[in-house]
Amino acid sequence: MKRVLFTPGPTEVPSEVLEAMARPLIHHRTDEYRQYFLETTRLMQEHLGTTQPALTLACSGSGAMEAAAVNLLSAGEEAIVVEGGKFGDRWRAICQAYGVTVHTVSVEWGRVATVEEVESALAAHPKAKVIFLTHSETSTGALFPIHDMARAAKKRGVATVVDAITSYGVYDLHFDRSDLDGVVWGSQKGMMIPPGLGFVCFSPRGWELVKESKLPKFYWNLAKARTALEAGDTPFTPAISLVLAARAAMLLLAAEGREKVFLRHQRNADATRQAVRALGLALFAEVPSNTLTAVTVPQGVDSGAVLKTMERRYGVKIAGGQDRLKGKIFRLGHIGYYDEGDISRLVQAFESALLDHGASITPGAGLRAAQESFRKSQASAAARVG
Ligand SMILES: *Cc1c(COP(=O)(O)O)cnc(C)c1O
Repeated sequence: MKRVLFTPGPTEVPSEVLEAMARPLIHHRTDEYRQYFLETTRLMQEHLGTTQPALTLACSGSGAMEAAAVNLLSAGEEAIVVEGGKFGDRWRAICQAYGVTVHTVSVEWGRVATVEEVESALAAHPKAKVIFLTHSETSTGALFPIHDMARAAKKRGVATVVDAITSYGVYDLHFDRSDLDGVVWGSQKGMMIPPGLGFVCFSPRGWELVKESKLPKFYWNLAKARTALEAGDTPFTPAISLVLAARAAMLLLAAEGREKVFLRHQRNADATRQAVRALGLALFAEVPSNTLTAVTVPQGVDSGAVLKTMERRYGVKIAGGQDRLKGKIFRLGHIGYYDEGDISRLVQAFESALLDHGASITPGAGLRAAQESFRKSQASAAARVG
């Protein structure tokens, strides 16, 4: 059976990327590797909209989060964490593990915090040095207004660091034009490659904080990584095959064009949401992200059984809820290598499995709505061009 991942990480990997990883290994202390590494870095910077160094680390996304935190802060310092899900809460856990005092702005999972709530926290905690945000909260499907929050933080001299692990490749972060001071992302989401790489990028202000930071670090010493990168090197052995995979993926994204990549994600998300609504189901997130569509499990439906049937009978792997949302939501991922045909397949499998498990939905309603959504966006694009 053909199996497809529609999970918000890991995501589908294009054949060009698989092929890059299958080639015989090359050594990393060679001009050939350095050239590939520098090219990959440049493509990632262009995609992020920055001229600042984008550092590649051998770790999953959480490692990049930890690396960012330990390079910006010192023990006993204060930070604000905005949390509305599992990943926002991870910033709190990382900071507290290193003795940083954390003030949290917590919102109910599925909701997004407002800029006003962030402004109040900034006013209440004038000693905070950094505010940690999550752009696309993958555990709930919600999208946070990070740019407005970063603007508020900057006014008070607080640096903003964003977990963009599921927004890199989906949204235009325009880093150099933004008020962000740090962004982290990972390989197995919008970059369309297997897990194992984490990335960090700091603004000039972020690099100033790096100089002051005294938290312990050895493998995560980003000042060293930055110096090494200037010569196309890394302080330690890089994950060579994954870097070559990243190069192949970034070449694909560059060939498609940034704007088109973002638009494709918008269309895929729109179509998925329309399908869900047409089935009479509810979107879980207050402000849904283009990364994934979280759907409230309808009453009387066993979500575990639906997930299993989708995977075993239809070859489509989606995600359920995590922690307190287990059994309460479905998470349909559409981040990365997906097109109109893929979304139709996702919707078809979702509908069929729901029907298999007795949900009262109209067969075909979701598919029809998705098709309609794609047709409308094509028509409006044609009208703009014509
Ligand atoms: C996947 C994800 C992470 C964690 O990344 P790992 O690669 O599992 O360490 C963190 N934040 C967000 C928003 C994510 O989607």
